This record gives sequence, C-alpha cells and structure tokens, in this order.
Amino acid sequence: MIKDQFTALKSFLSTPKNIAIIGHKGPDGDAVGSTLALSMYLKKLNHNTSVIVPNDFPDFLKWMPQSDSILIYEKENEKVERILNNVDLIFTLDFNSLSRVGYEMQTILEKTDAPFAMIDHHQLPEAYATYNYSDVSICSTAQMVYHFIEMMNNLSLLDKDIASCIYTGIMTDTGSFRYSSTSATTHKVVAHLIEKGVDNAAIHQAVFDTNSPDRMQLLGVALQNLVILDEFNTAYITLSQEELDKHNFQKGDTEGFVNYGLSIKNIKFAVIFIEHKQENLIKISFRSIGDFNVNHFARMYFEGGGHNNAAGGKSNLSMKETVNQFITNLQSHKKELVNE
Ligand code: 5GP
Ligand code: MN
Repeated sequence: MIKDQFTALKSFLSTPKNIAIIGHKGPDGDAVGSTLALSMYLKKLNHNTSVIVPNDFPDFLKWMPQSDSILIYEKENEKVERILNNVDLIFTLDFNSLSRVGYEMQTILEKTDAPFAMIDHHQLPEAYATYNYSDVSICSTAQMVYHFIEMMNNLSLLDKDIASCIYTGIMTDTGSFRYSSTSATTHKVVAHLIEKGVDNAAIHQAVFDTNSPDRMQLLGVALQNLVILDEFNTAYITLSQEELDKHNFQKGDTEGFVNYGLSIKNIKFAVIFIEHKQENLIKISFRSIGDFNVNHFARMYFEGGGHNNAAGGKSNLSMKETVNQFITNLQSHKKELVNE
C-alpha cells in the first residue's frame, strides 16, 4: 500500500468512525470472509461497522462468525441506502470497479460523499478510492486484510473468529491452497491463523462437504454436458435454466463446476456457461492453467474480468449464440492455447 495513503488511513482510523464495508455481487468465500474479518477487527478499534453485500451469499458460508449481521441490499435496500449516506468511510473489498456491486448500489455509491478505501487483489483497479491497497500478487483479499492488520501493528488483536474468516477467504480463493497464487507467505499466514485457534478441518468440511443431493445431481448434468474442443485444448460446460430448475438450484450450487474441465489432461482453458433466465443473461466463468490470460479474454469478449487464471463475464445472447460466439473468439487464440 502506498505509504502516504496508509499513513492517512491509519490517522483517519485513530478516532471512532462509522464505517461501511462492502463486498461484491455474488459474494464468495473471499468476499464474505474478508469483509467480516475487517469488520470484527475495526470493531476492536471502537469503530461502528456495517457489512453490506448486494445480494445473498451461499448457505455453505452461513456458519461464519457474524455472518447473520451482514446486510443484503436486495432485501433491505432502504436501510442500506440510509447507512451508506451516513458513514464516514466506505471500504470496498474483493472488487475494484464500482460496477461489481450492481447498477442500483453503484448509483448510491457514486452519489455518496464518504471517501472509499479499497482492499483488493484483482487486475486493473479503477480510481475511485482515496485509500488504495491493491496487489494482484496476493491470492485473496482475506490475506490482504491480514496484512492490513499487520501494517496497523495490530496482529495481537487477531482472535479465533477473525482468523476463521480470513482462513475461509484464503482457502476458497486458492482452491484449498493449490493454485499458483498460494505463496510461502500464504502458508505462513495460515500457520498463524491455525495457531490462533482456527479449526481448519471443520472449516473445510463446512464449506465443501455440505452438498445437497440436488447439487450432486446437477454436477452429473454439468459433466454430461461437458464438451471438449481438442484443437484448442479447451473444455466447456453449459447449464440451462431448465436444468438448474430441475435440480432445485440454490445459490452457490455451481461453485467449482468449471474446475472439472481443467482437471482433464491437456486442457488449458475451461469455461462454464450458466443461464439466468430472469436476468436475461448467461453468466460465464473462465479458468486457465499456465499463461493463457482469461482476464483479457473475459474483458475482450464478455464484459468481464478477474485474474490471469480465473475470471468471469456475461452475455445477453442466447446460450447457443453465446457458445457460438465463444468458439468464434477462440479461433484468434489458437496459438496461445496450443503452443504453451
Ligand atoms: P467466478 O467465475 O468464480 O464468478 O469469478 C472468478 C473471478 O473473476 C473472481 O475473482 C471474480 O471476482 C471475477 N469476476 C467474476 N465475474 C466478473 C465480472 O463480471 N466482471 C469482473 N470484472 N470480474 C468478474
Ligand atoms: Mn478474491
């Protein structure tokens, strides 16, 4: 973090403030983990905090300490708007473009007078924040919250609950410590979190081993729908609204499905297309192994973005047209996908 900005933020936080902490739309383990951890830490410094997300988060994160205090804009829009118009500071965590909170919340954020503090690890941060802590080399925003507390010289304030939230964010964003973003520092941080009382096995179980039978059946459908494009070392999965409905789709059910494509020998690029009939869009997740940059691909063709090896995007075309467009786009990247 730029020294002057950190010094200014530290000084700003030296007296009690009203603070909102916001995570992105479609909150994942890192968004929920990092916002809750920062909130619990700031409360220890006598700040008044509200954690806000645009829409609901998956059930497999609802065991998290203080997760029931999270305000969901979609459910309590007036209350959230009132809070956002009366805070001294707004932290935005795990995203770096205000569009990632959805149109309505974005409009409120753009009108507010409060300064922003960004903590985020995605590529190409936008310039809306007064205080910027952006580092694309760190695996998760949750690990950045740990480093923020460290920079504040407050690691002694870490307790089991804060540590558990940070652990969850790191674990989910690193695919359980296996992606290349997992560094020696990540493991040192995690070791410290476990020393602080984190029950790592229980968290893993709570997040990954609480599948519904419906979700497992839906995974079966996704794997049946998997298409391999040998000439591009690419695999993709489609899930239609009808297939989701048939298996009683719940938020978070398709989390991780895209990775099955990447687990196939020689596959370097894996994609999942998921239909959202109500919003009239196809939500897309992109994953890669090696140098193929899915952040660029998602930005270039599907109004999205993310990281080099994990990104998301969307399309307003039909499923068939979206997949056709995708296959057409692939033609321009054949060299990158085949020659690595
Ligand atoms: P996922 O595929 O799991 O939804 O997202 C993968 C990564 O890409 C995450 O880090 C997520 O924040 C980012 N991401 C997902 N969807 C979008 C999008 O529409 N726009 C941008 N800029 N990033 C996205
Ligand atoms: Mn993240």
